[in-house]
Amino acid sequence: MKAVDGVSFTVERGQIHALVGESGCGKSTVLRAILRLVDVYSGRIVFDNVDITNRGESDLKWYRRRVQAVFQNPQGSLNPRMRVFDIIAEPLRLHLKIPREEVLSRVHELTKLVGLPESILDQSPQSLSGGQAQRVAIARAISIKPDLLLLDEPTSALDVSTQAQILNLLLDLKEKLNLSYVLVTHDISVARYMADTIGVMYLGKIVEKSSADTVLSEPLHPYTKLLISSALLLEEKSLESTLKPIGEPPSAINPPPGCRFHPRCPYATEKCKREEPPLVTTGKEHFVACWLYV
Ligand code: SF4
Repeated sequence: MKAVDGVSFTVERGQIHALVGESGCGKSTVLRAILRLVDVYSGRIVFDNVDITNRGESDLKWYRRRVQAVFQNPQGSLNPRMRVFDIIAEPLRLHLKIPREEVLSRVHELTKLVGLPESILDQSPQSLSGGQAQRVAIARAISIKPDLLLLDEPTSALDVSTQAQILNLLLDLKEKLNLSYVLVTHDISVARYMADTIGVMYLGKIVEKSSADTVLSEPLHPYTKLLISSALLLEEKSLESTLKPIGEPPSAINPPPGCRFHPRCPYATEKCKREEPPLVTTGKEHFVACWLYV
């Protein structure tokens, strides 16, 4: 099974690239590949002009320091047996091996930077709210001054007002620390708020990619239009009403032949059922994989 196939994108320094799609579309697998937690059978992962695709673990220490991740479930990603102080301090001790006093001042500095009170440092992660726990996870991720943060649905487990606070914190930190993000989200409105560029994924493939403005204002692929209309960003009632109410998307283990979106697409033709459309440019660095544009 190919969980992800032919996915290609570039993230410039200081930019946010969002991968958008329903759960099971392979976007989290892309993050795990960038983290080198799953094998990549073809293609390359290049960081700062260095190909890290096949490097051994001992050759990746510098990379592990410069690329950090924040996950969906903040409470689940923090060790329940550790105090918040030690959770934030651990990467500093592990990667930077700095003196104890410096660890102390850096943890206090980070706590302030992510908007947490210092009183929280003696607590365990279970006593924190979801938003506080995600701030701790972010403090931990930025503690060793990475260049790239991988954000895997960082707000989907939080309530709406906390989501906005965390997204604003991430935008603020990006500016202050000159970070770059790869943001994985099922929610196109989160991508709209955050991203400079967007790749829309469906069953392991990129079906559309361009600048965020272009994807959101001139969506081409019927699936992108569905995502936008279901987020009420676009009046596409006719499309919405013609999309087949099939519930869950088809399985990525055994994807449909031809265009993978054809069982849900109101424009599907016989050719769509047989032949897979290539990802082609329509100009302005706007790419789409759909026979309507070839
Ligand atoms: Fe729909 Fe065909 Fe385009 Fe696929 S290739 S999105 S089935 S029109």
